[in-house]
Amino acid sequence: MRGYLPPVEVRVPATLGEALTLLAAEPGLWTPLAGGTDLMVVFNAGHLKATRFLDLSRLTELRGIAEDNNLLSFGSLSTYTDLRECRAVHQHFPNLVKSAQVTGALAIQNRGTLGGNIANASPAADTPPSLLAYGAELELVSVLGSRRVAYASFHQGYKQMDLAPDELVAKVLVPKPTGRGFHYFRKVGTRQAQAISKVCLAAYARLEKGCVAELRIGLGSVAPAPVRARAVEQLLLGQPLASLPIEAARLALGSDISPIDDIRATAHYRSVVTGNLLAQMLRELTQA
Ligand SMILES: Cc1cc2nc3c(=O)[nH]c(=O)nc-3n(C[C@H](O)[C@H](O)[C@H](O)COP(=O)(O)OP(=O)(O)OC[C@H]3O[C@@H](n4cnc5c(N)ncnc54)[C@H](O)[C@@H]3O)c2cc1C
Repeated sequence: MRGYLPPVEVRVPATLGEALTLLAAEPGLWTPLAGGTDLMVVFNAGHLKATRFLDLSRLTELRGIAEDNNLLSFGSLSTYTDLRECRAVHQHFPNLVKSAQVTGALAIQNRGTLGGNIANASPAADTPPSLLAYGAELELVSVLGSRRVAYASFHQGYKQMDLAPDELVAKVLVPKPTGRGFHYFRKVGTRQAQAISKVCLAAYARLEKGCVAELRIGLGSVAPAPVRARAVEQLLLGQPLASLPIEAARLALGSDISPIDDIRATAHYRSVVTGNLLAQMLRELTQA
């Protein structure tokens, strides 16, 4: 903890328009502040260069979870508690509920936001694997208007995102799965709770006539950013559930991930455990 904190300036816009105008006038100068659960840790440690913060908390435009026939739209200020308490999220996106349940403890779940988890761009964040598995899109806004990007292409490297300095993440749009679905989520950390992921795997499959008709696998903590296991998905697509090539899938995983050694785990541990989670997921899928 640092003993001296520099003076900071915090603006608290009342509308989204006001916030975007400020970002456009001085791009890169203002750091969006949502729940502050990532920012304040870095700030207190003295590693955060930013001293000007744009507090998003009053922007009602970024709140709420809305449902229509085809999708759920999460305001970027949706908290983990919002996700855990929403009936429609339980019904359509059980992996997202599980991600929220294993993020921090209740205080973090009450304050931390989905938008913050995404824009903090940690490879170890817990909602991204589920968002990848469900084929989420992001709505980004600036004074120029809004644009949609596939979440799978949003992270472009370690802490690099398809997000301009004058843009905010406004919404996370997740299409409702149709047909017979299979959902899997597992996070491996040092403890069951209050631990950052060593490995995290989320998967969604649509099953049709005893085969894998659609499959997306999202992975955390095994690459510079959250990633899809595209080689594995490709291998398994169309395969009969009764004879999924589990060992071949484990081998294919090697080209999807690039784990590193860090304070939480070794690259070797991450490779082996990711393969184990994949095999566990596929064994469950065989029984689905
Ligand atoms: C004790 C503790 C335990 C934790 N455990 C976990 C865990 O288990 N799993 C996990 O994934 N995370 C964990 N976290 C990290 C953190 O709580 C989450 O990443 C949280 O979702 C961050 O959201 P926030 O609203 O607090 O973000 P903030 O700290 O406010 O912001 C994070 C980053 O996102 C940017 N940002 C925020 N909102 C927007 C927006 N709408 N548009 C553009 N940029 C934006 C900010 O500028 C900043 O760079 C933990 C943190 C703590 C302190």
